Amino acid sequence: MVIETAQQLADAALAVPLQRATTAMLSKQGIELWVRRDDLLDSQLSGNKFYKLFFNLQAARSQGFSQVLSFGGAYSNHLHALAAAAHRYRINAIGVIRGERPAHLSATLMDAEAWGMKLVFVSRAEYDRKTEADWLTDMQACYGPSYLIPEGGANLAGARGVQLLGHALEQQTQGDYAAVCIPVGTGTSLAGLAAGVDRQKPVIGFSVLKGAGDLGANIATCYRELVSAESYFADNWRLISGFHGGGYAKKPSASLFEFWRGFERSTGIPLDPVYTIKMLWGISSLAQQGYWPRGSRLIAIHTGGLQGRRGFNCP
Ligand SMILES: *Cc1c(COP(=O)(O)O)cnc(C)c1O
Repeated sequence: MVIETAQQLADAALAVPLQRATTAMLSKQGIELWVRRDDLLDSQLSGNKFYKLFFNLQAARSQGFSQVLSFGGAYSNHLHALAAAAHRYRINAIGVIRGERPAHLSATLMDAEAWGMKLVFVSRAEYDRKTEADWLTDMQACYGPSYLIPEGGANLAGARGVQLLGHALEQQTQGDYAAVCIPVGTGTSLAGLAAGVDRQKPVIGFSVLKGAGDLGANIATCYRELVSAESYFADNWRLISGFHGGGYAKKPSASLFEFWRGFERSTGIPLDPVYTIKMLWGISSLAQQGYWPRGSRLIAIHTGGLQGRRGFNCP
């Protein structure tokens, strides 16, 4: 079924299964972990990216655009999902990619091109200008009027989509959990999730970036915009930065790789190399340190990204 309305997306989110993940260490610490399998949301539009794109694509249409333009790297889950969505919703898509066109495209970009996305390769210096108004005007003069989606789908419309995921989780669990965890790149999903679940529930984001920069401030701004219409008590989100494993898309250390293999073997749940692996490593490490009381029931959001396993050394 093609999801056309917010209600249909909410219904699809309610149908996403929660899967118990048991490992020897979690059992020993008395922690009950459930993984919400948003990677199974859709075969092509998996994980958090579809939630982040949904209201952006609606806005593009309602504002009369027949084309969207966004940005990313050669393995970008965001561009992959955008290309799939643009194909499905019959809208043109331009993907602006950092660096020269390589002789061999990544599997990610091959899919994107096959779905009809036009790939535009720009120098690193140009790519760094991607938020400048002048440059964006030039791009549109070159490639046609386009609805712009920031890198990673990082805007308020993106967070609104993930808020629906939070509502669905609350309904599914009836609030019977201690905390919910999610990996963090731009933090858009963390902000949306925290605004979507019960405001008393701790939502913990595990950053995959080495330097936090403006991350916390951006999340705070986005979160407050989402909740300001409602009553605002206090932030229910928290950002943990100690489990980036060397930084974005870095080859995992031998011990992280061992953890990855062990987790997949014990639970049967595949993880992606950039995001979900680090969240689960973080959750497990904190559990081992006694961060959560025995008997705690935790939820981890599987944000997808499994397409990124191709071309990566995986267990
Ligand atoms: C993009 C992505 C994230 C990060 O989402 P943000 O909203 O940018 O924080 C997490 N997990 C996966 C698998 C992703 O592709």
